[in-house]
Amino acid sequence: MSSPTPLDSLSRIHEPARAVPVVAHADVVVCGAGPAGVAAALAAARTGACTVLIEVAGCLGGVWTAGQLAWIIDTQDKPGLMTEIVVELDKRGARRPRVEGRTDFAYDIEEMKLILDELVSAAGIRVRLHTRVVAALRDSAGRLCAVLTESKSGREAWTAGAFIDATGDGDLSALAGCGFDLGRPGTGECQPMSLVSLVCGPDPQEIDAFIGGGGHAAKERLLAEMKRAGVEPSYTAPTLFHIRDDLYALMANHEYGVSALDADAITAATTRARAEVNRLVNALRGLGGVWSRLRLVATPAQIGVREGRRVHGLHTVTEDELLAGARHEDAVCRVNFGIDVHSTNRAHGGSFDPANRQRSQPYDIPLRALIAKDVDGLLLAGRCISGDFIAHSSYRITGAAVSLGQAAGVTAALAAQSHRSPQDVPWPEVRAALERLGAT
Ligand SMILES: Cc1cc2nc3c(=O)[nH]c(=O)nc-3n(C[C@H](O)[C@H](O)[C@H](O)COP(=O)(O)OP(=O)(O)OC[C@H]3O[C@@H](n4cnc5c(N)ncnc54)[C@H](O)[C@@H]3O)c2cc1C
Repeated sequence: MSSPTPLDSLSRIHEPARAVPVVAHADVVVCGAGPAGVAAALAAARTGACTVLIEVAGCLGGVWTAGQLAWIIDTQDKPGLMTEIVVELDKRGARRPRVEGRTDFAYDIEEMKLILDELVSAAGIRVRLHTRVVAALRDSAGRLCAVLTESKSGREAWTAGAFIDATGDGDLSALAGCGFDLGRPGTGECQPMSLVSLVCGPDPQEIDAFIGGGGHAAKERLLAEMKRAGVEPSYTAPTLFHIRDDLYALMANHEYGVSALDADAITAATTRARAEVNRLVNALRGLGGVWSRLRLVATPAQIGVREGRRVHGLHTVTEDELLAGARHEDAVCRVNFGIDVHSTNRAHGGSFDPANRQRSQPYDIPLRALIAKDVDGLLLAGRCISGDFIAHSSYRITGAAVSLGQAAGVTAALAAQSHRSPQDVPWPEVRAALERLGAT
């Protein structure tokens, strides 16, 4: 390489411009394959759009799989894919509600990975794993026209008629130039991260009193056991979810004050969290008795990020709407789950923020909250949609993410197929397409 030195100071390097191969021209490109991204891609493909799904991890599912969450909340009033997934999990004996009559449930993570692979394959979606979206290009009219990715195949470009940001953290929107908010107004403090880990060993009947998913008593008993073992978890409402046989998911740590946009901070948080989970599990095992066979099976490669960018949309879902139980003509999701702010600062306690215990009503999210305000041709799905700090703490759960993904996917497909902007697709057209998919 004989180009002149690219250094203009000690702190910056200028990359030379280069031609990037366009590897696909699609109707719809979905970035991020968590619950929202998979739902968006499936809905777009089933609406007839040629669809690409790009994901940085090595599996589909996001926090469901790479994050080892194993617990789905708010499946009530969620027709379409959520119902399909429940049926598929049941066929495989891979779903376990904790309380009769409640719709929340634990699921087998490996079965979930397989189900998602099978669904996207049957829908003819082009999936690219191990690939990160790193840049976005807009045409002369300002409309998003391509995303650029990096992977083992190098730098590549993907063009489409419409794009969906389902990266959770709103990466694509930020790269495309959208405005966004992050954290609490004023302080910017975000909800803590947690490393949800798999543990095995104890007989579920012997530790039934410590299994969560049905109220706070089990968490308090588990906390007391940890204290008896000489350790205090950074999340003081530690929770064990029973997956199957002697397999459980353990959520017992909080990493406070970590920004989802700071790779150094996320790295340090992951290392600390892994050490803490090991400490907690080893201490419990040291108690003997029902814990004597307790073993750590796996910590996830990806720490669980509760909160990233909230991208500005044509409508912003607000705390007031939650408190009033808002209804909208263009409703794409009914959220039944309440306000759920994990402590954003250890000084506020180690579990949930006492200042944010407001009671919400079931409320609607309108399609407009899924359409980016600042960049044309871009839809939002999942936890990066347009909302305020408090509203996000409620709609971030995965039952809602799936409904939001479906609506974004259908709207993107209709827009791309007819060369319109997402906001120009009339609501009755979107509703009719969602009805055809059984998603409303
Ligand atoms: C610790 C924790 C506990 C939770 N508990 C529950 C619970 O009990 N029940 C529940 O229903 N919800 C729970 N949630 C909330 C829920 O898991 C998330 O809000 C939900 O997964 C949001 O779905 P999503 O598809 O928007 O985002 P994610 O699941 O975060 O998926 C985003 C995907 O995009 C990919 N991605 C990100 N950036 C890029 C990029 N630049 N290029 C390519 N791909 C990219 C990621 O790898 C990921 O696969 C919890 C979350 C956390 C973190």
